[in-house]
Amino acid sequence: MTKEEIIKKHKQYLFPSIFTYYSEPLVTDHASMQYLWDTDGKKYLDFFGGIVTISVGHANPRVTSKVKAQIDKLQHASTVFPNEAVVALAEKIAQITPGEISQSFFSNSGTEANETAIQLARMHTGNFEVVALRHGYSGRSQLAQGLTGHGGWRKSLPGGTHGIVHALNPYCYRCPLGKTYPSCEVACAKDVEAVIQTTTSGQIAAFIAEPIQGVGGFVTPPKEYFKIVFKIIKNYDGLFIADEVQTGWGRTGKRWFGIEQWEVTPDIITSAKGLANGVPIGGTFTRPEIAASFEGLQISTFGGNPVTSVAAKATIDLIEEDRLMDNAATVGSYFRDGLEDLKSKHELIGDVRGMGLMQAIELVKDRDSKEPAPQETNQFMEECRKRGLLVGKGGFYSNVIRMSPPLNIAKSDVDEAIRAMDESLMAISPAAVGAGKAY
Ligand code: PMP
Repeated sequence: MTKEEIIKKHKQYLFPSIFTYYSEPLVTDHASMQYLWDTDGKKYLDFFGGIVTISVGHANPRVTSKVKAQIDKLQHASTVFPNEAVVALAEKIAQITPGEISQSFFSNSGTEANETAIQLARMHTGNFEVVALRHGYSGRSQLAQGLTGHGGWRKSLPGGTHGIVHALNPYCYRCPLGKTYPSCEVACAKDVEAVIQTTTSGQIAAFIAEPIQGVGGFVTPPKEYFKIVFKIIKNYDGLFIADEVQTGWGRTGKRWFGIEQWEVTPDIITSAKGLANGVPIGGTFTRPEIAASFEGLQISTFGGNPVTSVAAKATIDLIEEDRLMDNAATVGSYFRDGLEDLKSKHELIGDVRGMGLMQAIELVKDRDSKEPAPQETNQFMEECRKRGLLVGKGGFYSNVIRMSPPLNIAKSDVDEAIRAMDESLMAISPAAVGAGKAY
């Protein structure tokens, strides 16, 4: 098919809700490690990795060789029959998850992983109500949309969501309480308690949050935040669910899971995306006594599929063997320095945030008013594309550029990305070069 045919059929045969990032759709052809090619043969440095999913490089042969071998051996027989691949993966996960988390339930997406976590928390505690955060994203089922704190992603819920309440999010750049860290004393964390006291019965099943809000624009809480929230949740008998769909598997640097950066041990971890380097997977992990509450017959036809399990285990092993968590920290901090430099040159950048190889810039029309710059964000993406760089978008105001390259990129890849971003910023607003710096 030609590119034009693909675009035409995409419009004709897929639901219109599927959106594309660019004014002219980028039709993908093939990819290898940190690079992706479109059908015109143009090569891109991929700094978004299929929405924070390509952990160890596109089509990494150390993962795909194992996947191919498993496809030839046994692709699917369903979880009614135990298989070696799924137990090897679950055992590996038990070894690296924090605290006493040692049992897994596998499904096919982050949505299902979160849905499972909430079902489990409700069954285990006997309580129904759940606290989530504004600007959080939990997935696209009705329950997951209910947990989500963005109006635009909740369109299937005109009747509202029963039993889910949303606390203020720890968005320091745009503090919902108008305060400044650290003099705020992390007042946003205390809002979790106020929300429980005022909008629930006082008996909750769970609190769910992403350690770094992904779709929300890599909103990164202050270091005290989750410890304070954890204590509050325990006072109301709830379970703490860390949604690690974007932050898991070394993405934030040095540690396997994002929540470990806040020194909190969650009761349940959910995962998807980067766990299998692009092969569809969802996972919900917890302690045996909580898992024991998962009552009734529960099955996911594809969950724990041997091919998927082999892909996930190969991805985790590769991250471990090549010490990619350390690489994410080292190259991530180099990347962060580059982004801070860009901020010192370009007024359009209002904030730089993130951790490890999960970094974002928030674009504003004016640094004092912090008025969001969504049009400029779109333009920036187009300019980066022209220069062969793929980046993601997010944020409640659609003005955050999100970057999550594979964990095994080198500093030279960062140099290339920063150069393309610098030129792109110049192209969209040369007049906005800050601090009088010429370059
Ligand atoms: N949780 C988080 C934090 C996510 O970022 C996403 C997807 N963007 C989901 C859950 C839902 O995952 P999926 O699209 O695989 O259902």
